[in-house]
Amino acid sequence: MRVAVFSTKPYDRQYLNETNEEFGHELVYFEPRLNRSTVPLAQGFPCVCVFVNDEVDAHVLLQLQQGGTELLALRSAGFNHVDMQVAEQLGIKVVRVPAYSPHAVAEHNIALLMALNRKTHRAYNRVREGNFSLDGLLGFDLYGLAVGVIGTGKIGEAASRIFHGFGCELLGYDLNPNPNCEALGMQYVSMDELFSQADIISIHCPLTPDTHHLINAGTISKMKRGVTILNTSRGAIIDAQAVLVGLKSGQVGNLGLDVYEEEADLFFEDLSDQIIQDDVFARLLTLPNVVITGHQGFFTEKALANIAHTTLENICEFEQSGDCQNLLDAKGVKAS
Ligand code: NAD
Repeated sequence: MRVAVFSTKPYDRQYLNETNEEFGHELVYFEPRLNRSTVPLAQGFPCVCVFVNDEVDAHVLLQLQQGGTELLALRSAGFNHVDMQVAEQLGIKVVRVPAYSPHAVAEHNIALLMALNRKTHRAYNRVREGNFSLDGLLGFDLYGLAVGVIGTGKIGEAASRIFHGFGCELLGYDLNPNPNCEALGMQYVSMDELFSQADIISIHCPLTPDTHHLINAGTISKMKRGVTILNTSRGAIIDAQAVLVGLKSGQVGNLGLDVYEEEADLFFEDLSDQIIQDDVFARLLTLPNVVITGHQGFFTEKALANIAHTTLENICEFEQSGDCQNLLDAKGVKAS
């Protein structure tokens, strides 16, 4: 199939090209994100392939449909950046990569936690400058701490297994409890119980209207003082302004982010010679108890290979049958 592939970096192209030897699609790469300005580039492509920060709103979808696009192939599990209802109304099918490596994201989540806990980011710089003082590097034992896992699907489960290995007590909140997590000893509790009992809150639910700003001034006030919050899911689950206030007061003890609500204008680009205009983000970067990475949870060799393979296979399946096992419906669940 002829595919316009947006938001592509050299590493995306490398994995897609290698994998495409098996599939033989005509892949045309575009470096920019798909949005209202760039959508004319997709004119005439039956398939358009996008990543997490492309803006596939109603306007873009209408332009795609008028340009002959039948299939939108997401290189991600999350689909919060697509107006699914409009896609269905316009008859554009949407396929995604439901799982490429939950372990990649779960392991990165732990990397954030361990850096925050043992201050590795600070220790690294100090030691390089010949400063071997331990002041300010005091950490805590994870063993015995209560971890509240919000969203216990594939990534939440993989993260829970790691927390379990550390000897943490597992609290869970999910609309659908996961028996594999229960088998680890996870106790499912209400959201309020999770907030009040957890030493560490690890977020792995999707971004939906229900989870938008789930972490806000009100919910932060219910948490244990000094709580550690980890978010490798989607930025808008956290109200960053509220968490900044919490960090300044000490109510929030540590913050580890791989995602940020306004990340689309920041992440995946080298902006090192520019002034960051987002004051909340810039302030967060100054705090010693905040570690932020630029949406790299998925960024492992295995995950990139799996993303490329499932994406190109999804396109093949659709081309051959008009259907696909990874097709989403208007609500974003697998269409039957
Ligand atoms: P999943 O579908 O396997 O699990 C999501 C879980 O969240 C499900 O168990 C679901 O029941 C639960 N859930 C849905 N709504 C909820 C709510 N309102 N409250 C509590 N739980 C709710 O998805 P996954 O593969 O584990 O991925 C989780 C999220 O991780 C994705 O939606 C995506 O946003 C994010 N993600 C981030 C990266 C990264 O690079 N940082 C990579 C992949 C995925």
